[in-house]
Amino acid sequence: MRRFQSYIDGAFSDGEARFESLDPATGEAWAEMPEAREADVDRAVRAADRALLEGEWARLTASARGKLLGRLADLVAENVQTLAELETRDTGKIIRETSAQIAYVADYYRYYAGLADKIEGAVLPIDKPDMEVWTRREPVGVVAAIVPWNSQLFLAAVKIGPALAAGCTLVVKASEDGPAPLLGFARLVHEAGFPAGVVNIVTGFGPSCGTALTRHPLVAHVAFTGGPGTARHIVRNSAENLASTSLELGGKSPFIVFADADLESAANAQVAAIFAATGQSCVAGSRLLVERSAKDRLLEILKTKAEGVAIGAPLDRATEVGPLCTRRQRDHIQALVDRTTQAGARLVTGGQTPEGPGWFYPPTIIDCDGTASPALAEEFFGPVLSVVSFETEAEAVRLANDTNYGLASGVFTTSLTRAHRMIRAIRAGVVWVNTYRAVSPIAPFGGFKLSGHGREGGLAAALDYTRTKTVWLRT
Ligand code: NAD
Repeated sequence: MRRFQSYIDGAFSDGEARFESLDPATGEAWAEMPEAREADVDRAVRAADRALLEGEWARLTASARGKLLGRLADLVAENVQTLAELETRDTGKIIRETSAQIAYVADYYRYYAGLADKIEGAVLPIDKPDMEVWTRREPVGVVAAIVPWNSQLFLAAVKIGPALAAGCTLVVKASEDGPAPLLGFARLVHEAGFPAGVVNIVTGFGPSCGTALTRHPLVAHVAFTGGPGTARHIVRNSAENLASTSLELGGKSPFIVFADADLESAANAQVAAIFAATGQSCVAGSRLLVERSAKDRLLEILKTKAEGVAIGAPLDRATEVGPLCTRRQRDHIQALVDRTTQAGARLVTGGQTPEGPGWFYPPTIIDCDGTASPALAEEFFGPVLSVVSFETEAEAVRLANDTNYGLASGVFTTSLTRAHRMIRAIRAGVVWVNTYRAVSPIAPFGGFKLSGHGREGGLAAALDYTRTKTVWLRT
């Protein structure tokens, strides 16, 4: 069995306790993970605090910080395959997706490497002839970065990159469900040559490790990605020290198809939007809203595509849909599908947990027209598409916004003017028009409503890891 270690204060260690990680494709234990509890978390936060205030990191110039980040980007790019295999093995996400995603994780580090020496203060034209007044952008402090198991290296990069560019230090908590990729990534942080304590990487369980981290008095900011229920705990716990928070939470994103759209290309985008990562994606286009006159035709194309998807071993390059990350997740999906069909919705395809080892679940489509279905409100976080039809553009807008979430959305139409009206009307942090799931380090990303607050990506994300100090100098 493989053994992984925590990375605290520049050294690898075994953790206060250990737990086994299961391979989602077989359900069997394949690795032993270090479990951080209060003492390890305290050691990591204190190391991050020392690195922030004393020693080499505190004295590095911004461009030297950028060079270290650039070295980290190179190392990630050189190790895509190793990292991808760790993520695939530990989370069940297919190798095609982990390799592609980790290649652009390197791009995110490179982007923030370039931004490190572009974070500037300003000279203020104060109306006093004997005063010079200016602002300095200083790091916000020790950052606690807490991530879920899906896209872990990516979700960590969008926190670690801007935080380091701004001069912060971090304690990163990998998810207990599949921590291997981040613990493997710790070796690259070490090799890149960051001073001890600048980046610490631990894993452990939410109620113990996560709580100890978010309540720690030396943590200045908590950058969290995960579910809204966990976010509430985090906000309550970090309120103890009045730490700031940025929250990237769940979604129930509408994928809206008008009858004038190219249905074949919309169907291809919809299949990727809901079945990629076996649906375990915060931006999954999980509610298909389709204009009534196009519904039958689109459903027919989608059914054929869903039934043709290659389900199998995640390490096999031919596989298109792998298992879910945990058994708990699969049971949640089956229970929600059952409640949905009991509420009167019609299964178009899928909907039944298969026999055999591993936590597989088939691509599933549910026609929810005419029902008050729970599948339209709750996040499955699985390969399940709920479908509703509409007659008018106003109805499409009403349905799109009829959710507590507001993370992403897709609009498929050939009408330019309609696209603009939809962009204005949809309450979500991202609107993709005639495309879906496009990302770039340059483009901000984040939610409205219960999908959270704060933005990741772009220059603004790096500025969010700074605070302004204003200097008044009498001349
Ligand atoms: P989760 O909220 O259960 O766990 C996320 C992380 O929080 C884990 O590391 C966990 O250990 C930790 N945690 C749990 N309880 C904690 C506590 N009390 N204090 C501190 N930390 C705690 O989420 P999950 O089930 O692992 O992931 C799925 C959720 O994440 C979905 O809702 C999904 O939509 C969301 N997500 C959002 C984005 C985004 O960018 N908006 C991206 C990916 C996933």
